[in-house]
Amino acid sequence: MEIILSRIRDRDPEQKEFLQAVQEVMETVRPVLERNPEYRKQAVLERITEPERVVLFRVPWMDDQGQVHVSRGFRVQMNSAIGPYKGGLRFHPSVTLSIIKFLAFEQVFKNSLTTLHMGGGKGGSDFNPKGRSDGEVMRFCQSFMAELHRHIGPDTDVPAGDIGVGAREIGYLFGMYKKLRNEFTGVLTGKSLAWGGSLIRPEATGYGVVYFASEMLDHVDDSIEGKTCLVSGSGNVAQYTCEKINQLGGRVVTLSDSSGYIYDEEGIDCDKLGFVKQLKNIRRGRIREYCEQYPNAVYTEADAELGYNPLWAHKADCAMPCATQNEINQQDAKNLVQAGVRLVCEGANMPSTPGAIDIFMEEGLLYGPSKAANAGGVAVSGLEMAQNSMRLSWPREEVESRLKQIMHSIHTTCIDAAAEYGMDGNYMAGANIAGFVKVVNAMLDQGLV
Ligand code: NDP
Repeated sequence: MEIILSRIRDRDPEQKEFLQAVQEVMETVRPVLERNPEYRKQAVLERITEPERVVLFRVPWMDDQGQVHVSRGFRVQMNSAIGPYKGGLRFHPSVTLSIIKFLAFEQVFKNSLTTLHMGGGKGGSDFNPKGRSDGEVMRFCQSFMAELHRHIGPDTDVPAGDIGVGAREIGYLFGMYKKLRNEFTGVLTGKSLAWGGSLIRPEATGYGVVYFASEMLDHVDDSIEGKTCLVSGSGNVAQYTCEKINQLGGRVVTLSDSSGYIYDEEGIDCDKLGFVKQLKNIRRGRIREYCEQYPNAVYTEADAELGYNPLWAHKADCAMPCATQNEINQQDAKNLVQAGVRLVCEGANMPSTPGAIDIFMEEGLLYGPSKAANAGGVAVSGLEMAQNSMRLSWPREEVESRLKQIMHSIHTTCIDAAAEYGMDGNYMAGANIAGFVKVVNAMLDQGLV
């Protein structure tokens, strides 16, 4: 296994995030390989860590002043053993091939856990939509799709949103795909309701995170009711995580963006959350403006020099990181433990560093890893694809009840897989093992392709 890891490291030494994601999976699937010598003979680790296809392309676009920019586009089609590639698009200046490969790799296991037939992929661009006009975002999306359309399709690869890609971007991307291909198909998920979207898709990731946290608490005879929660981010996942915590009787005291965070001891209730939605989704403002509206809340500017994020040091019972990768480091994890947090349930992808996860494990926290806890988003994307294929729409109650059922099933799958390999209660091991075994068996069924 070390040989495989060092080969990946030597081939792509700059792909640190990808290596981090691979390392985490490999460490936990070691007993599976020991029990199944056929997996080793068939080089499944080497095969599953190499993308089936990587598309890297130029995205030229013009800003409102007539200046030409050249962004970089990516689509990593990681694994299609159990279904068409499925995974979001991220538009953020920090996007690199390493980030997209790590996200695509995680997506393979996550999609496998959902019980639906979806392979794993991810894409995006280093384009920064922040501060850009609607016209600039539209022209960028059109240029991006002018290349991407060759590589995707409803039975090939179905992208969705992620950081920086919400309803507006999905609309522009879909419009361009339709024009180029002259077909109206379910090629993207996260669409508007009027043209093929699914009810509950915007809510699905955040709601799913809280359903998963509730399953974890229920397993130890506890519940989310009355719990104080630290939530980071203020985008799609953070907003609906906050909404569902409120609905289930919990209290959210923090939200953030890349500039800083707010702490509202009285709790961010439904009215205040309505303000945040308006602020972030419509006005595209900054979270610091929350304190102008609610002066009892306190805003703290982000400070990278500090070496930790004070958001994670507030007294609470639960933490739901919903912003970005590696946002909880070892010191943050220590602060969380000190602050009384007993459950960490990940809304963002890979928000905890390996050092932070070690602390969670040593301290016996309930730790719900992202590939299980945030799978609700892609699960409802899968349900959107099913509705598109049938050309009908299910009612809200039906989609939410299916989401709840899927999160319950993912929880059971994690618990059972971990127990089968003697790692009771280890959700990270359970998620990795269950996701891995299903994909690998499908790969072996389909031969050396
Ligand atoms: P949004 O773009 O809606 O929101 C992202 C939030 O995170 C914003 O508040 C943003 O702040 C903050 N953020 C982004 N990058 C950084 C950074 N480098 N440092 C600090 N804060 C940052 O994205 P989503 O809510 O959709 O995604 C959040 C996370 O959830 C990501 O990890 C994504 O991969 C994951 N996820 C999303 C799913 C979905 O359905 N949308 C599904 C599964 C996982 P700012 O406004 O300042 O950039």
